[in-house]
Amino acid sequence: MSKPPPEHEGEDRAKLILALREQGVSDVKVLGAMEKTPREIFTPDLFKTRSWEDSALPIACGQTISQPYIVGLMTQALTLDRRSRVLEIGTGSGYQTAILSRLSRLVYTIERYRTLMAEAEARFKTLQLVNVITKFGDGGEGWAEQAPFDRIMVTAAAPEEPTRLLAQLKPDGVLVAPVGRGPVQQLIRYAGDGAGGFLRETLCDVRFVPLLDGVAREL
Ligand code: SAH
Repeated sequence: MSKPPPEHEGEDRAKLILALREQGVSDVKVLGAMEKTPREIFTPDLFKTRSWEDSALPIACGQTISQPYIVGLMTQALTLDRRSRVLEIGTGSGYQTAILSRLSRLVYTIERYRTLMAEAEARFKTLQLVNVITKFGDGGEGWAEQAPFDRIMVTAAAPEEPTRLLAQLKPDGVLVAPVGRGPVQQLIRYAGDGAGGFLRETLCDVRFVPLLDGVAREL
């Protein structure tokens, strides 16, 4: 399926991890998970040579694989530990899912395109990520049967505060999501205060594809 990595791949990998550190991704576990996860498995053939660049790249269905810096930043903001049960909305290529799976107990991930879900599932199998549970569906609704979650990550832009997802978070849980309607959104970290409320922290501006209602009718 995927071409063998080019000779300078190891160098590109090290360069990227260093660049992420310089930009503020300081959590060594997150950096370790990113270094160990072969991003070239998740990128389309046309862009394989750019797999270790710090940029978002196009994938099927008009979607994107997120920029590594943003993946690092969001994963770090989620403050995971080995006991965490995590819900991810927007599987896409499955790259972010793979990073989450290395740092938590169980990852539930939802995607609204069948094609993307099937491709991501094949990658999880190749990488033997046995703690990932997938669902084809509308992630905006969350996953009520499996709630509440310790952590929730949304990798598509929610038009407004994701209240339905916040309702599926444990009282001391953390949710990270891009929020906004325009081409540029704000990355927000919601931390449960243990009493039903949330502390909101704006992390930075980001550009994500929108969180859309319902499942995609096309493949
Ligand atoms: N984490 C992914 C990013 C993919 S882009 C990666 O690193 O590859 C965001 C994804 O969210 C797209 O695949 C898009 O189809 C999906 N998405 C958008 N709205 C959704 C919804 N309501 N439910 C589930 N997935 C959704």
